[in-house]
Amino acid sequence: MSGFFFTLNPPSSIMRTVIYPGSFDPPTNGHLDVIQRASRLFDRVIVGVARNENKQPLFTLAERRTLIEESVVDLGNVEVDVFEGLLVEYVEKQNGNAVIRGLRAVSDFEFEFQMALMNRKLNEKVETLFMMPRASYSFLSSHLVKEIASLGGDVSAFVTQSVRKALQSRFGKAARN
Ligand code: ADP
Repeated sequence: MSGFFFTLNPPSSIMRTVIYPGSFDPPTNGHLDVIQRASRLFDRVIVGVARNENKQPLFTLAERRTLIEESVVDLGNVEVDVFEGLLVEYVEKQNGNAVIRGLRAVSDFEFEFQMALMNRKLNEKVETLFMMPRASYSFLSSHLVKEIASLGGDVSAFVTQSVRKALQSRFGKAARN
């Protein structure tokens, strides 16, 4: 009987590390919601800001990293890092147990499903877990936030103050709110 419970509850000395990868260009409150949820479930959360040569980000890798770091200072078990190359190799390098991805709507599912299964093919040991943000963030994307900011709309409900200011300086007077 005790063996049964032992299997379900691994010794607490095992450190559970999860990687949350993404572009975060820029980080939104939806991303932060996922980070907060993951930080309550895992011992260590590494937010991996991806360098992707195929995408032309608005913010540099270093800027995106700083913007996330500023918003997770209160979460003691969250680190922010940058990476390039294969995600599964990065997860191994960090001794990670799993990858977290956010699922907003059915529209996210197909791409995320494909990616999760491809990553499993590349490395059987790396599990992908999906987390849903608070309903009010389920329509939020970095892409939309950039578009609203570039047109002078108010993004303060969707991003942190620092991100709002960074958008403002990038788009000039347009993102004035
Ligand atoms: P990528 O370019 O890898 O899709 P993103 O920065 O757009 O990177 O998103 C990183 C992860 O966060 C993805 O799993 C994405 O589905 C998820 N995500 C993005 N926006 C939200 C949101 N509003 N709520 C929850 N998850 C989100």
